[in-house]
Amino acid sequence: MARNRIAIIGGGPGGLMLARLLQLRGLAPVVFERDTHGTQRPQGGSLDLHGQTGQHALRVAGLEAAFTAASRPEDQGDRLYDSAGTLLFDRDAPSDDRPEIDRTVLRQILLDSLLPGTLRWGSRIAKIMPSDKGFSVIGAGWQEEFDVVVGADGAWSCVRPLLSDAVPVYEGVTLVELGFDVARHPAIDLLTGRGKMFAVGDNRVLVTQRNGFGHIRGYAGLRLPEETARQWRGLSPRQVRMALQEAFAGWAPSLMAVIQSGDFIGVRPLYALPVGHCWQSRPGLTLLGDAAHLMSPFSGEGVNLALADALDLASALTATGDWSAVTRYEAAMSARAAIAAAGAAQGLNGAFSPQGAAPVLAHYRARVCEM
Ligand SMILES: Cc1cc2nc3c(=O)[nH]c(=O)nc-3n(C[C@H](O)[C@H](O)[C@H](O)COP(=O)(O)OP(=O)(O)OC[C@H]3O[C@@H](n4cnc5c(N)ncnc54)[C@H](O)[C@@H]3O)c2cc1C
Repeated sequence: MARNRIAIIGGGPGGLMLARLLQLRGLAPVVFERDTHGTQRPQGGSLDLHGQTGQHALRVAGLEAAFTAASRPEDQGDRLYDSAGTLLFDRDAPSDDRPEIDRTVLRQILLDSLLPGTLRWGSRIAKIMPSDKGFSVIGAGWQEEFDVVVGADGAWSCVRPLLSDAVPVYEGVTLVELGFDVARHPAIDLLTGRGKMFAVGDNRVLVTQRNGFGHIRGYAGLRLPEETARQWRGLSPRQVRMALQEAFAGWAPSLMAVIQSGDFIGVRPLYALPVGHCWQSRPGLTLLGDAAHLMSPFSGEGVNLALADALDLASALTATGDWSAVTRYEAAMSARAAIAAAGAAQGLNGAFSPQGAAPVLAHYRARVCEM
């Protein structure tokens, strides 16, 4: 089948990496992205890229030097507190091969690597329809024909319904995202250490994570019914902060400062696709990244999988022969993601449990023993 005209829906890390790798192999994909430019909305916090997946994809894409220059290997530390503010675990400067990089910086490295005109900003895709010539990609008032369409459009993919009936399910946990400038928040700076801080109590979690450029990203996480989470999304920042103060009442003042002093960014209910999500392969259409295997951030694998998927899919799309190379990519990708998704579900239930910090402490200690 023809594979000359390739549409990638979504210019997140997975879609951009796929475009880069296809261009290196002589193809000319088009990326449709609903954002109007690269900094239209906050891209989220720091990501750690793993050697065998995220970093490997960047190496193959010829972007290792740019990644090394921009990443922060010094920010891989872990701290764990209980809700009384007692420090239970502190690994301040480990030499894991998982350097951190800000999401905006990673996106810019990928954007800079693409040929001019590859990315169509401000192109929210409303629908994909099979046509005589392949597939119609339909936006607001326009449509264009492609041989292959790749859904790299994240949690609420518009490509996925053509392949699968699965829909993301609310995981019962909502994160409120907060931001801190180190210069204005020395106490949060001290609390965080060189990496990530978790404070874990009964079914509630506070996280702060060091980002680049003197920023720290924070999350207050708690179990909420889906309807309440939806209502919180409509509340003012002041109202959300008040609700959080009530929910975390009794926690140590040093930890309450996270809720009281952070700049409000947003309310983010966590959704996931079923663990092991897969579909009947359909020539001309496929998925990668969160569109294929959305999971909670509690495995730290999401972006790494998206980049690894892009690498494998680029090889499959440029293999000679029929669609079977892509079918094999889909099977291997689903199997790999299932392991991470099970880990993410376990991580979420360990962090948000009635046992407080104990399960997270056991997890950290086990990781140290493995090294
Ligand atoms: C709070 C939080 C923290 C996280 N922390 C980590 C971490 O530490 N490590 C890690 O590995 N992962 C982490 N993740 C997960 C990680 O962010 C995702 O797995 C990763 O971004 C997936 O990349 P992607 O390219 O598949 O999708 P996305 O990054 O979601 O990109 C999808 C793109 O598609 C665009 N789009 C969507 N719909 C359309 C449409 N209809 N038309 C056009 N464009 C569209 C979007 O604007 C977006 O740019 C975290 C996630 C969250 C929520």
